[in-house]
Amino acid sequence: MSSKRVVVTGGAGFIGSHLCARLLSENYGVICVDSFMTGSLDNIKGLKKNNNFSLIIHNVSQNINIPGKVDYVLHCASLASPKDYLDFPIQTLKVGSLGTHNALGLAKEKRAVFMLFSTSEVYGDPLVHPQKEEYWGNVNPVGVRGCYDESKRFAEAITMAYHRIHKVDTKIARIFNTYGPCMRRKDGRVVPNFINQALENKALTVYGNGKQGRSFCYIDDLVEGLYRLMLSKVNEPINLGNPRESTVLQLAKIVIKLTNSKSKIVYKKLPQDDPRQRQPEISRAKKFLKWEPKISLEEGLKRTISWFR
Ligand code: UDP
Repeated sequence: MSSKRVVVTGGAGFIGSHLCARLLSENYGVICVDSFMTGSLDNIKGLKKNNNFSLIIHNVSQNINIPGKVDYVLHCASLASPKDYLDFPIQTLKVGSLGTHNALGLAKEKRAVFMLFSTSEVYGDPLVHPQKEEYWGNVNPVGVRGCYDESKRFAEAITMAYHRIHKVDTKIARIFNTYGPCMRRKDGRVVPNFINQALENKALTVYGNGKQGRSFCYIDDLVEGLYRLMLSKVNEPINLGNPRESTVLQLAKIVIKLTNSKSKIVYKKLPQDDPRQRQPEISRAKKFLKWEPKISLEEGLKRTISWFR
């Protein structure tokens, strides 16, 4: 058995499963806790063969019990696709609030390091560009995205309270748009949508005029940043994302080119409160974690496309 034990909530999800794989490769004992609401057994099929990996099927919005010592609690469980949190707003609110409270309680009891997987959505539809960690955001609490944004803002607040009051060693990763293998085919987010549409020669659905900006980070880059943050001494929030910004329309054209697809583009209604722009300012990550993304959008998309094929 390996010496350090890590609990990964949401460990069977897109980001969680990649992180579990990385932790196993670094010889950690990994306990994956997942309700399979959006995670899947397929994502962890390969990991289950490793003796250092164990799975607990559990919804972390309920109390979490883990026997034995725990060195790290990485709270990754969440609904992360706008499609999911529009369909399941209450579950989204619960996992961000109650789930974070339970995961913090576990970290406190075990005297473990805690890391929250937060989001660029805490900045809402940002009025400051690019977004620095000091920016407090522009969120509509009663809009359709409020269930996600506000639960993550609550999650950050309770994480800092546990740090200040209970002296838990906490980390907050603010994760910007990330893509790669293991995203669900019907995930609803823009990269899997466009790749699947292009591979089937169906029209790519651009919402609004496609001029909204997003910055896409390849999963391997993100996992490296998360791993460095977990081991760091930093307790303040840190942006993790790729600073290269593209419009959604540019992304659609790149995906069509890389897949040699015959697909056209169709324009659909822009969802309510869809942020107009989003780009991480990552000087904090560069300074404290010596981290920045290395994989270009074209390279990351090629790898993702070949996985989806
Ligand atoms: N989007 C799009 N077509 C799609 C899915 C998404 O044009 O089929 C747009 C969406 O409106 C948003 C951007 O792509 O402006 C990124 O959406 P996603 O759901 O990936 O995540 P978000 O960044 O909004 O959290």
